[in-house]
Amino acid sequence: MQQYVEQAAALGLEEIGFSGHFPYPPGYDPPLPDCVIPEEKFGDYLKEARRLREHYAGRVSIRIGAEFDFLGGRYHETTPLEEADRLGLDFCMASVHIIDGLVVDYTPELLVEGLERKGWDIDSLYRNYYRTLARAAGPGFCTTIGHLDLVKKFNSDPRLVPLENHSALVDDLLEIMAGSDTAMEINTAGWDKPCAEQYPSLEIIRRAVDKGVRITAGSDAHSPGQVGRHFGRLKSLLEELGIERLVGFDRLEPVFFKP
Ligand SMILES: [Zn+2]
Repeated sequence: MQQYVEQAAALGLEEIGFSGHFPYPPGYDPPLPDCVIPEEKFGDYLKEARRLREHYAGRVSIRIGAEFDFLGGRYHETTPLEEADRLGLDFCMASVHIIDGLVVDYTPELLVEGLERKGWDIDSLYRNYYRTLARAAGPGFCTTIGHLDLVKKFNSDPRLVPLENHSALVDDLLEIMAGSDTAMEINTAGWDKPCAEQYPSLEIIRRAVDKGVRITAGSDAHSPGQVGRHFGRLKSLLEELGIERLVGFDRLEPVFFKP
């Protein structure tokens, strides 16, 4: 974790947020192993993040959060926001990677195979995905929705291109987010994925801004070298869209700053 902060410092970033994947609810059997921090290791994650926050104080400010893989129900009988409050986290990001046991973002092959097994087409997956995400976007659930259109990740594969337009469902989701002050993450990792664009699309960002949804940004780094990836490109995108204010979180309270 320290190398991530070192990289942020080297890039001149003022702030870095850790969003380790929160453990699955007890008894949940995930379709893939090793996607989240195991329950018994989550305390170590927090301890190390707090140590680094002290160590880098005055140089890089560190926000400690978690990404909650929303499965469509509740977490430990609580919401991510309640868990985050209990743990003293700065932010909690909800995102969807798995719909009814189907992993949306692992490989195109796994996704195609899963769709066939379920008898779904890609459009039913999109509908399910956005409806599930909408359940995570209401008041008191999380501070942030992560990589909002992750479902498009493999859309360079002709088998995984939606035929329908899902913007009405996206609009419903954005309305809920605007109403609950849930922030939307612009995630620069998408530029390195088959979809070859940030999450979410320009069109979705524009609609979110029009509706007054708060915007935050991140690089979804899974290695230190990925910290701040494509932030130059992100800056141009924010300028192009006239986004002059981003939101971060300090103990779950919004903090606004200039990009
Ligand atoms: Zn994620």
